Amino acid sequence: MLFWDRRLCVDMITTEKCSKSSNQCRYEHQTSYRQTNLCPQWYTNNRCTFGEKCEDSHRLEGVPNEHRYIRTETDANVFKLLRFIRNFAGHYIESVIHDQQELYKNVLVVMVHLVHALSRKNAGSIEHLNLFLEKSAVNQMITEENLLPELDKPFSVPAIFFDRRLNYSAAWYRPTGNKRDLKFNQLSQAFVTYFNRIFVEYYQGRLRSRGAKSAWS
Ligand SMILES: [Zn+2]
Ligand SMILES: [Zn+2]
Repeated sequence: MLFWDRRLCVDMITTEKCSKSSNQCRYEHQTSYRQTNLCPQWYTNNRCTFGEKCEDSHRLEGVPNEHRYIRTETDANVFKLLRFIRNFAGHYIESVIHDQQELYKNVLVVMVHLVHALSRKNAGSIEHLNLFLEKSAVNQMITEENLLPELDKPFSVPAIFFDRRLNYSAAWYRPTGNKRDLKFNQLSQAFVTYFNRIFVEYYQGRLRSRGAKSAWS
């Protein structure tokens, strides 16, 4: 994730050393990723004043193994949402939120989308959602027959959910904040396959022994 967030120190990537110590550098030094021709400007700012004439590469050429399943921008955005959900679970108690209900609703809708997009499932069924999410919470928002059509539409995700440096002790969420439309059905096959496996493993490791029936055949 550090890689896609452009949080790695570009000096470490290109030269394997940085003039600052890892405590002083704003960027992350722990990486084995090397690409000597990577344009520092482009990597750090996502653009470069030399444009096409730049002698360095404006492309991440060797994608680290653990990230091979991130192929498209949608993949990268959904990955960020997964990170958000994980962090939110650990921080929500200390969160300073004025409109909690609105926030929790958005978090829940994002989770429903994530499970639906990434779990294995049977066509036309929502059993996979009930396997991983509290059924009553989902039912409070939407009826079962409206759920699947709704999940096929893009969802406007609060842009703050993609922020990698959320300060949970500040008032970070506002219902009126910017939104970003995410089309969960545009994930790459590699991404979906990778997470399908994680959901299946979770089911086999944690849920099946407690008597849960698989939601796919
Ligand atoms: Zn550095
Ligand atoms: Zn450049």
